[in-house]
Amino acid sequence: MLVAKNEQGQSICLVKQQAVGGKKFFCPGCGGPVRLRKGQVIRPHFAHISLKHCRYFSENESAQHLALKTSVYQWARKHNKVELEKWLPEIEQIADLLVEERLALEIQCSSLSFKRLQERTHAYQQAGYRVLWLLGEQLWLKNRLTKLQKQFLSFSQYMGFFVWELDLKCQRLHLRYLIHEDLHGRLQCLTEEFPLGVGNLLTILRFPYQKKKVAVLKGRQDVQLLDYIARQLYHHSPKWMAAQAQLYQKGGNLLMQHLDDFYPQIRPPQSRCGFVQIQEDLTDYYANFQTYYQQLNHKDEQYLYSPVFYQTILKKNSTPN
Ligand SMILES: [Zn+2]
Repeated sequence: MLVAKNEQGQSICLVKQQAVGGKKFFCPGCGGPVRLRKGQVIRPHFAHISLKHCRYFSENESAQHLALKTSVYQWARKHNKVELEKWLPEIEQIADLLVEERLALEIQCSSLSFKRLQERTHAYQQAGYRVLWLLGEQLWLKNRLTKLQKQFLSFSQYMGFFVWELDLKCQRLHLRYLIHEDLHGRLQCLTEEFPLGVGNLLTILRFPYQKKKVAVLKGRQDVQLLDYIARQLYHHSPKWMAAQAQLYQKGGNLLMQHLDDFYPQIRPPQSRCGFVQIQEDLTDYYANFQTYYQQLNHKDEQYLYSPVFYQTILKKNSTPN
C-alpha cells in the first residue's frame, strides 16, 4: 500500500511525499497498524503488521503491483483528478486509483476468485462507479482465454471484446481487441500498444468507445479441422462429445460433416455465466455475426470485423432498393 494514515489521521502518500515523518501508521481500510518498508528492490510502501483483521488488503503487494500503481497514478495525474488507493466507505472497498471521482482503475496482478471479482465489480456498478481492470503479467491473455480472463472482458461496437494489459518491463499499456476464439479454443485477436505516461490516460481508456474505422482481423482457419475433430472424438473430449450428442439427436454425425459446415470457425467468446464487466445485451451481435457468415459464398477464408460492421451491412442488405 502506498497511502496510510498517521497518528493525527492525515493521509500520507509515499508517491507524493519523499520524506515521511512520524513513526506510527495505520491502514485506511481496517485501521490496523502498518509498517513503512524501504527496501533495495521494492519501492517504499506500507505493509500490515498482521493481515488477519484486514478485509481490504488480502495480501502484501508485489513489487510489480506497487510499481504499476505508481506509474499509472503519475500518468493519470498529468491531466486528470486522480486519487491513489481511494477508500470508498459506501462500498467498503479501496480503489487502486479513482479518476475524476467516478472511474475506478484496478491494477490486477494476481489471480482472484470469480466470486471475488464479481462481488467487487457489482459493488462498484451498484454505487454508480465505472470500474476498469488493468491486468498485470500473470493475467495477460495467452493461447486460450481462461474462465477468469473472460470475466475481465469489456465490449464496444468498434473494438468488440477487449481487455487492457499493463507491461511493467516495457512500460506499455496493451489493448487486446477483436477477441475471438477458434474451434480449437485458441485465441485470435489484435493488439494496440500505448507507451506508459504518454498522452492523456483517460482519452486512451475511452479509445475503444470512440467512433472509428471498422477494425479487421484475418482469421486463421484450420483446413485440417475435420481430422482434429475426429481425434477429439477418439479421445472423448467432453466439448466435442457434447456436440456430437447434440447432432445425433438431429440425425447427424460430426464425422460426416463437410468443412464448410463448421464455418465460421472463428467466433466471439461465449460464457454461460455471462460477462461480469459487460452490461449491454450481446444477443444481436451474436445473431448478426452468425447471419453474416452463413450468407457468404466463399468459405475458404474468414475476416473478422468490429461488431458495428455486421449490424450495418445486414441492415443495408435487408433494405429494398
Ligand atoms: Zn487493513
